[in-house]
Amino acid sequence: MLNLEQAQAAILAAVRRGSRTETVPLTQALGRYVATELRARTDHPGFDNSAMDGYAMRTADLAAHDFRLPLAGEARCGDAPGKLAPGTAQRIFTGAPLPAGADTVVMQEDVQAENGAVTLPRSVAPDQNLRRRGEDFRLGDMLYAPGRRLSAWDLALLATAGVAEVAVYARPRALVVATGDELVAPGAPLKPGQIYESNRLATLSLLAQLGADVSDGGTVRDDPAALRALLARSGDFDFIVTSGGASVGDYDVVKQVFAEIGEIKFWKVRIKPGKPVAFGHVGARTHFFALPGNPVSSLVTFKLFVEPAVYAWHHARAPALTLRAQAANGFRRRPGRTEFLRARLYNHDGRLLVDALKGQGSHMLGPLRETNVLIRVEAESDGFEAGSMVTVIPLGAEF
Ligand code: AMP
Ligand code: MG
Repeated sequence: MLNLEQAQAAILAAVRRGSRTETVPLTQALGRYVATELRARTDHPGFDNSAMDGYAMRTADLAAHDFRLPLAGEARCGDAPGKLAPGTAQRIFTGAPLPAGADTVVMQEDVQAENGAVTLPRSVAPDQNLRRRGEDFRLGDMLYAPGRRLSAWDLALLATAGVAEVAVYARPRALVVATGDELVAPGAPLKPGQIYESNRLATLSLLAQLGADVSDGGTVRDDPAALRALLARSGDFDFIVTSGGASVGDYDVVKQVFAEIGEIKFWKVRIKPGKPVAFGHVGARTHFFALPGNPVSSLVTFKLFVEPAVYAWHHARAPALTLRAQAANGFRRRPGRTEFLRARLYNHDGRLLVDALKGQGSHMLGPLRETNVLIRVEAESDGFEAGSMVTVIPLGAEF
């Protein structure tokens, strides 16, 4: 059985990278993955301008005129850069071009303006309250390399840099299938022994958030023929993600069918939750992940294995930030597997505390309401004491 690091390395080594690209306008680029270098189309700032509402002047004029200058002209946003007449000051607004001849701006709060002249403090120095051309970036500077996943902040930068469209990797196609004779769609009446299906919806949503073009394969029974039939067109997909039926029970058909139609790279990993998880290929294009049926296991193994694979497919790396936080409560266990505890991270008097939540069973979804991080317990560890430092994995901005 592989350990976590081996399984993750095996996935990264085996993922085939997408090659199809498409060009999209910035308005469609959120969450897409950059496919070619993006360079600035303009200097930014594009011209010297004022960082404040105030007055532009030449510093050297001040002492010569006893810190009182007549006002001559105005620089407004959108005006072409003007000129400053020697020995005068000019009204200027935030973002307006600095007139030629001026070398500083004094904010209006520091100025006394009356009778068409301004009185200025003696502390005025050159280069105050100015934004210089190109101080942020210059025409031709590299802004993003291939593999960058674009956030809303990135879109602001690209727009500022005059970039109107970007080449991104075409979305991978992903098929999601749930397996289990007991599963019923939410809302349908439950017969004895049946449960509501939840993994498929979560997996479809997570894949869509990562930028995949998702197809809902529905729920199939624990019958190899049914799964085989559904996977007959698996070659149309870059990713197939199934849930359930991946362990060694008599009705765990997923592994059996994947072994027939493809090549399994691994099917068990020394982790908790989620030990029965399989990864492999079908044909030249398709990656498959057989995730465990227990809902929490399915979510955690998606995070550990599918998410990095989808990023890798896009020539990108999944965010891998971890934090250290102080455990608010202790946790004891038998060493052996790398374990992920659902937990809540919070700020307490300026310190980061983390609470391992009650109800760590991999069938228990209630604690997910509070969960904003996973605590990572290393394989050889037997747990941690309250007050000790532990490693946590943030789950995303929405928390
Ligand atoms: P399995 O991995 O198929 O052995 O399933 C493990 C546990 O997860 C069982 O209790 C199943 O009923 C449950 N389970 C399997 N698939 C799903 C699903 N799609 N939604 C909710 N629970 C599931
Ligand atoms: Mg099952």
